Amino acid sequence: MNTIKLFKNAHLLAPEDLGVQDVLVAASKIIAIGSDLTAGDSNFPVEIIDASDFYLTPGFVDSLVHFIGGGGEGGFASRTPEMQLTDATLGGVTTAIGVLGTDATTRTFSNLLAKAHALESEGISTYCYTGSYQVPCRTLLGSITDDLILIDKFIGVGEIAISDHRSSQPTFTELRKVAAEARVGGMLAGKAGIVSVHVGAGASLLDPLHRAVAGSELTIRQFYPTHINRNQAVFNAGLHFALAGGVIDFTTSTTAYDLQHGEVAAAHALAQALAKGIPVSRLTLSSDGNASLPIFDSSGQLLGLEVGKVSTLYQSARSAVLDYQVSLPDALAAITSSPADVLGLSHKGRVAQGKDADIVLINKSNLHIDSVYAKGQQLVKAGQPLVFGTFENRNLSRS
Ligand code: ZN
Repeated sequence: MNTIKLFKNAHLLAPEDLGVQDVLVAASKIIAIGSDLTAGDSNFPVEIIDASDFYLTPGFVDSLVHFIGGGGEGGFASRTPEMQLTDATLGGVTTAIGVLGTDATTRTFSNLLAKAHALESEGISTYCYTGSYQVPCRTLLGSITDDLILIDKFIGVGEIAISDHRSSQPTFTELRKVAAEARVGGMLAGKAGIVSVHVGAGASLLDPLHRAVAGSELTIRQFYPTHINRNQAVFNAGLHFALAGGVIDFTTSTTAYDLQHGEVAAAHALAQALAKGIPVSRLTLSSDGNASLPIFDSSGQLLGLEVGKVSTLYQSARSAVLDYQVSLPDALAAITSSPADVLGLSHKGRVAQGKDADIVLINKSNLHIDSVYAKGQQLVKAGQPLVFGTFENRNLSRS
């Protein structure tokens, strides 16, 4: 593996459109961008990549993944499986944020952190949220603040559930306390200290967040609500929240049943929010990968369970471009620079000098992912995995 790579004549979407550029990578970092870059008289072997057929974009940042599995809401047999490395990399995801979700009893922080480290060893970048659906929050060390200050991988808390029958029915004062702890922990550790909020289909919508912010010293940016496309009422409340200055997140994993029953496709939601004048810096997509997705028949009978897929993240961004006329730089921003900024990951989400060499090459002709590099290492080539997770079945993955 050459540690120096020179991408020639790529159309750079950084994610903003910077036209045709060369990009020079050394080890895990992007060290130069410009036209007519050469490797000079380097004594080191340089891999030259002809990128003239491709858009070169930042690796994707997925802000909500149940990478140790989630679910369990239909009994023990409905607990979903772990994510494998290529589930992320084939979808261009090079940074994933792991969460517990509904179940903080059989899913634990020890397991979450171990899996985060395993995925790092296998090649991508990972972070986690402390807490889960419930308030008061489960934590590893006894408080949200301690977890954020002392555990490197914890960058925020969540997903805290509101307006949902599965939530712990938190009061706005409790939400305010969670946000205050996360804020102070984040400040002391130099992290985002964001509160990820799972928004259910309950009638109170986003009101608990507005009430937690009103009359406090907290800003609306402390909260990062997700599943905002779950139905039209939540979507409308989300637009209101974003127009008030908040950041909102749309979930890309879905089922045909959900889309037929009021869910707004994430791609369509992104297009509509942009059309309302909400800047893309306040709009993100996340996959909810490895969450459980119940499948119902037309009469509402449970037929079975599917598992959310990280690969839907880029599929939705691509659909926003092809089906809903969103510009490619805006669609990419919603899965790169916007989540990186919300999560305080300053070395992620952009192709720029000094950033991590997380790079996706997208075929210009059909917008499919061709190659994926994470911290300078190529993990996907011509749409196929070059690197597998430790226990992945290579034959199955190639079929
Ligand atoms: Zn959720």
